[in-house]
Amino acid sequence: MSLPVLSIIVPCFNEKECINSAVNKLTEILKKLEEDNEISSKSFLFFVDDGSSDETWELIKAEHEKNSKVKGAKFTRNYGNQMAILAGLFESDKLDADCFITIDADLQQEEEKIKEFIQKYKEGNKIVCGIRNNRKTDGLMKKTGAFIFYKLMNIFGVNIKPNHSEYRLLSKEVVQTLENFKERNMFLRGIFSEIGFKKDYVYFDVKPREQGVSKFTFFKMAALALNGITSFSIIPLRMVTFVGFFVALISFCIGLSAFIDKVFLSKAVSGWATIVVTIGFIGGIQILCIGVIGEYLGQLFQEVKNRPRYIIENTVI
Ligand code: UDP
Ligand code: MG
Repeated sequence: MSLPVLSIIVPCFNEKECINSAVNKLTEILKKLEEDNEISSKSFLFFVDDGSSDETWELIKAEHEKNSKVKGAKFTRNYGNQMAILAGLFESDKLDADCFITIDADLQQEEEKIKEFIQKYKEGNKIVCGIRNNRKTDGLMKKTGAFIFYKLMNIFGVNIKPNHSEYRLLSKEVVQTLENFKERNMFLRGIFSEIGFKKDYVYFDVKPREQGVSKFTFFKMAALALNGITSFSIIPLRMVTFVGFFVALISFCIGLSAFIDKVFLSKAVSGWATIVVTIGFIGGIQILCIGVIGEYLGQLFQEVKNRPRYIIENTVI
């Protein structure tokens, strides 16, 4: 069997501090794997600039001039990390890669584990997911958020292994299958959990970020989580129906007891506090339910427009 061509895909958003060291460390890894006859000498790095406003793209271009193994594409604007990963996969598929590994620009994920991913690929696995050993480097909010998110996803019927990351290997077949997934909102962790194919896991430690700051703001995390839930499960919509039914049932019972009080027991009307609390409660539930329905409507709206998922302005290959 001929040696596989590996493409290492790196999404970058305002990562000017990280590009050079990422290129150096990853080139080193490619070199070592090539020397050990693990991968083809045609293997390369693919950087996707996700609409950075700093010098990220200039640095990628400069690295490309020095080293033809460095390739890249630049988005017209910030489309988010999921789209950057997707574009990296599809663009390097055009360059005839056989397997693909995605890793963050800050190399917080142990890049030394790439060898293990390749071994699992050679054992016949089509998807190899990187799972974090722990969340030590995350703040309390991110940790709690992730915990709630994975629990909710499980309740909603989407079985994602907790502590999943975007550090993963995919084979050519998987990437080409992924091209048939036409939805705008791609929640990759969910898709790889349900796409099938032979799968294995690599466990790794997360290092602290050496340069720059996290590009995943609270809002980006929250949006990713909401997209994950609404693009994979309709259980929240069903829950809305149930909640509506129960609230209606409770209101009916309260109404009935008031009626009995009035007609048969001739009791005085109870205090207005009860009424205010009930109205507030029901009002809150209604707004929440409309919000849930709105989330799904928003998803539909995005899908129906059928716009391109991302626009590439420039490439260096
Ligand atoms: N990233 C991206 N687009 C974004 C936000 C992040 O391509 O809108 C990239 C970022 O450059 C990095 C990776 O996604 O390579 C993970 O981001 P980061 O390290 O900031 O997240 P954290 O490790 O804090 O979760
Ligand atoms: Mg990071």
